[in-house]
Amino acid sequence: MPTKHIFVTGGVASSLGKGIISSSIGKLLQARGYNVTIQKLDPYINIDPGTLNPYEHGECFVTQDGAETDLDLGHYERFLDVPTSHANSVTTGKVYQEVISKERRGDYLGKTVQVIPHITDEIKRRILMLGNRNKVDVVITEIGGTVGDIESLPYIEVVRQLRYELGSGQVAVVHLTLVPYLSAAGELKTKPTQHSVKMLLENGVQPDVLVLRTEKKLSEGIRRKVALFCNVDKDSVVESVDVSTIYEVPLLMLDQKLDETLLKKLNLESDRKPDLNNWREFIYKLYNPKRQVSVVLVGKYVELPDAYKSIIEAFIHAGVKNDCKVNVTRIHATDLSEENVEDKLKIFQGIMVAPGFGERGFEGKILAARYAREHNIPFFGVCLGMQVAVVEFARNVMKMKDAHSTEMEHATQHPVIDLMEQQKGITEKGGTMRLGAYPCKLVKDSKVYTAYNRNEISERHRHRYEFNNFYLGEFEKAGMKAVGINPETGLVEIIEIPTHKWYVGTQFHPEYSSTVLHPHPLFTGFVKAALG
Ligand code: GLN
Repeated sequence: MPTKHIFVTGGVASSLGKGIISSSIGKLLQARGYNVTIQKLDPYINIDPGTLNPYEHGECFVTQDGAETDLDLGHYERFLDVPTSHANSVTTGKVYQEVISKERRGDYLGKTVQVIPHITDEIKRRILMLGNRNKVDVVITEIGGTVGDIESLPYIEVVRQLRYELGSGQVAVVHLTLVPYLSAAGELKTKPTQHSVKMLLENGVQPDVLVLRTEKKLSEGIRRKVALFCNVDKDSVVESVDVSTIYEVPLLMLDQKLDETLLKKLNLESDRKPDLNNWREFIYKLYNPKRQVSVVLVGKYVELPDAYKSIIEAFIHAGVKNDCKVNVTRIHATDLSEENVEDKLKIFQGIMVAPGFGERGFEGKILAARYAREHNIPFFGVCLGMQVAVVEFARNVMKMKDAHSTEMEHATQHPVIDLMEQQKGITEKGGTMRLGAYPCKLVKDSKVYTAYNRNEISERHRHRYEFNNFYLGEFEKAGMKAVGINPETGLVEIIEIPTHKWYVGTQFHPEYSSTVLHPHPLFTGFVKAALG
């Protein structure tokens, strides 16, 4: 069977949840036994979001094979429980880079290189390759941005061309729009949706399904009106009403038979019943926690929840696993001082120090790590958070007063965290960190071994600095142990204080691999420790 394609576009406004709709469609098709993969096409010119400030674009998600990608790939993985890769993330930057290097090689010799056909051909090549490479039944392609943006035009053109080239029954287009509620009029308004569909039509694309994001339920009348004015069947008008958890969206879509509608459009058999028992059980537990626990996330981009998306989601998964609700409070590291740290942190049962870069907030994070260590409060440091724990321990337990990471203080006498050897010659910023999954051997008698219940693990990284092995002996003597080591390079990937209730720091990012059906063992372990 040739791979089928579903495109998800958005109109009217950004942030309507295209990533969640794409993931939900993927989940429903997967639950019917189809092999699905989801990719994101991002219209910006950066090669990847690795060089973007999280304030601009939220978290940078990292795949197993080391791609720095849009945070929507995190949703795809959390919903489908299938890893994504470099090939699932396309940006205008990557597309142009490829076309320009072909031009320099002489591949187009004699021709004028243009958006159509050269850029669009390169986009199509990537979309089709993803289907062939992974032998998937359905490729879902989410197109970033909003219809009508200048920069997303080539992508919409690609949808038009593919529908024509692949023929009928091979491509379906789902368009997500907003139906605003005007309280003064007491009415839901469909005009923005009509305009948005018109704009798609101007570019030659008739959507097959409309998903309408709305605060209030849609009446039959509204569905009929939208269907009539946007040339879709009434069954193909689906509402996406605000819900308290994104994980409920697949079930809402299922109730409205979105999966069946799409299968029909794609000439796929729809009599296999979807198996969503595990998923439903997860939602039930999410809504019916037996206990609560409060943890604090000390970070730097705390105003923007998207900046720590995978961490926040990993806590939701770990909460369900522990039959509890995890309340996560985000605190700005720069708001912590010697004077207030106790007041601010004493109400929490667990303390996490977030990943990050640069000096801002570093000392506040040190205070948080120290408070957790001295008060025997479960502590979890991720990436920079682990490095902070190491520096804090060196300064306050090992009495190396000026211990530091050379990322923050180049001239420190005690560079307990230092630039990795392989990073030393690197000057370019994009895609040059230690990225992606690496193996790690665990020390048997440790908290992390208990959590994973395995000798060897594989986890994803994104960093340039690391624990300085020159000091390892002294740390172990003083009571901080290396309990996870990369078997090839000897890099310290996990530290622990065995005498503490639960004090763990990981150089890798466990949050990237937590999914609904497989909560991450370290998040689960941390939450369990916080519950006491
Ligand atoms: N800035 C640190 C490093 O590069 C930590 C990175 C991170 O937290 N992702 O090593």
